[in-house]
Amino acid sequence: MLIKPATSHTLTQCWYTRMHHPGHGRTRDEAGVLHAYCRHCARPIRSQGGKAWTLADGIDLDELATRSSIRFICVTSVADGMVIARYPLDREADDAAVKARMTEIVAFHHADEAGSGLDVRLMGGPRA
Ligand SMILES: [Zn+2]
Repeated sequence: MLIKPATSHTLTQCWYTRMHHPGHGRTRDEAGVLHAYCRHCARPIRSQGGKAWTLADGIDLDELATRSSIRFICVTSVADGMVIARYPLDREADDAAVKARMTEIVAFHHADEAGSGLDVRLMGGPRA
């Protein structure tokens, strides 16, 4: 397979849309994660389930949620999966404190307004 060098700065479709599409030859690893190369930008991408693909070296919210021991509140744009802001939480923060912080962040980003297109989620944290 021909892979463009990482130094290539050609702007591809996914640079604008941030949507990557797998080319041929996707593989599945032991964890069930699909790996492929984007047919537009030729960068390594991965997917849980094959619907949405993210850059293999980029941020994967689901994986972060699973692996991170630090809790944070994540504001993402639903349309393109872009992380807009990430607020780490104090390790000792209790449920009430987390809830209050969440309310603050939702208000700050106007995420509760209709059509905001934003998703505010609590992510990470040690497994209970
Ligand atoms: Zn791409």
